[in-house]
This record gives sequence, structure tokens and C-alpha cells, in this order.
Amino acid sequence: MNEISCKIMCLSMRNGVEIWLEDTRIENLRQALAAPNAPQFITLPDKQLINRSDIVGVFSPKSMESLTERKNGVWRCKQGKAHDRGEKCDCMPQKTKERNVEMYAAIAKCTRGCTDGYITHNDGSCEKCECLARFNQEYPT
Ligand SMILES: [Zn+2]
Ligand SMILES: [Zn+2]
Repeated sequence: MNEISCKIMCLSMRNGVEIWLEDTRIENLRQALAAPNAPQFITLPDKQLINRSDIVGVFSPKSMESLTERKNGVWRCKQGKAHDRGEKCDCMPQKTKERNVEMYAAIAKCTRGCTDGYITHNDGSCEKCECLARFNQEYPT
């Protein structure tokens, strides 16, 4: 039940080996590494012997997870959700979705002949139509 002692961190090695250690052991390792005249080779609690020059770093499970995801082609969208390689993001927040529906409904009712809330003048300039301007005022993001 002691969550703190169960927290583990990953010691990542240059050769790709991941050594998972409890927080407290990582702390011991940190101290061993920081000590003056620290040896080049460090013995881990499970008798593994590592070359300190081969240590890439100590990472949280979360960092390791995103690294594994990246390797597998998984990417994260703006909403922070993981998507498989090639998968399209459909996590627009429900509120934004609903707002978009309302917005297009408001634009559809417009009688000024705008396209998606914008009026293009003959000289090519573009102006926000009143329908969209009003909608944005009534439903600020
Ligand atoms: Zn997404
Ligand atoms: Zn309009």
C-alpha cells in the first residue's frame, strides 16, 4: 500500500537497455554518480554493472511511454490523446463541435450571400460577414 516506495523510474542506457528502479534506488544511484571520485562502473542493486558513460538519463514512466509511442508511430494531438500511425484525430472537444454546428447553422441562415461567414468583394478583398461577426459575439470561444 505504500505508493511512494513503488514509484519507479527508468534508467535508460545508450544501448537501448531500460533498467527500471525504485525511486529510492535511483536516488542512491544519483548520489553515487555525483560523488567525487565516483567509479566509472557502478553496480546496481541487482548486481548489474553499468558504465556511467553509457547512461542516457533517468526518465519517468510517462516519458518512457511517449518514447515507446513515438517509436511505434503513435502521435499525440492537441487534445493530448494518442493516435496510431495514420489515424486521423477526431478529438475535437464536444463543445467545439457543437459550436461549429451552431456556427454553420447561423451562416446558413445568412441572406448576405457570404461563403462560410466571409464576403468576397469584386476587388478580391475579403470581409467577415455580419452573420459570423454576430455569432462570435454571442458565442465567444
Ligand atoms: Zn486527437
Ligand atoms: Zn453572412
